[in-house]
Amino acid sequence: MKKTTLTFVLTFTASAVFAQNASQVQKLFEAGEYQRVVDAAQPDAEADRVLDSVAHTSPAELMEARLRIEPALAELIVTNATPADFERMETCLDKAERGATLDEFELWDAALHQAIATATHNRFVIRVLDMVTAVRQQAEWGKLKDRIVTPERRIKYQEEHRNIVRALKERDAERARAFIIDHLQHARRNLFGF
Ligand SMILES: [Zn+2]
Repeated sequence: MKKTTLTFVLTFTASAVFAQNASQVQKLFEAGEYQRVVDAAQPDAEADRVLDSVAHTSPAELMEARLRIEPALAELIVTNATPADFERMETCLDKAERGATLDEFELWDAALHQAIATATHNRFVIRVLDMVTAVRQQAEWGKLKDRIVTPERRIKYQEEHRNIVRALKERDAERARAFIIDHLQHARRNLFGF
């Protein structure tokens, strides 16, 4: 189920960006045609489309996607994370907690979620989370968060973050996954009331 969700998300996103079939790409590569195919696909236009989809993603769409993607990463992280990954997560936790303003907290909150994705050691997943961060940095999203992230909620989010990182460190994918779902559902409730 978890693997199916992740596979679906990755396949779904990948199909928009890359050729559908890895063996097809391999054959093209061996035939020396790969670059020609890539050039023909107009990478500039593709990059524009990616930026465009970031700019037009609503907070509700983003939250829907995050709730499906981020919990599914727990298994990959408990398998692949290194001590350096956990250090990066701890740094984000500390900086978020010490942040003097809600903006600073937000910044380190996003950095933590990205650090968690980095710990999958899957470049494609990391790229997807880069896009999540890019959407979160949009002005409209920022204003929405300003109204929603109160000091009390921030304390609760910090606890949730600690629980997620602790479970990942203990290589407990099930608990980490449950904590990630709780955290994102909590954020969604605060944002949209459901
Ligand atoms: Zn968070």
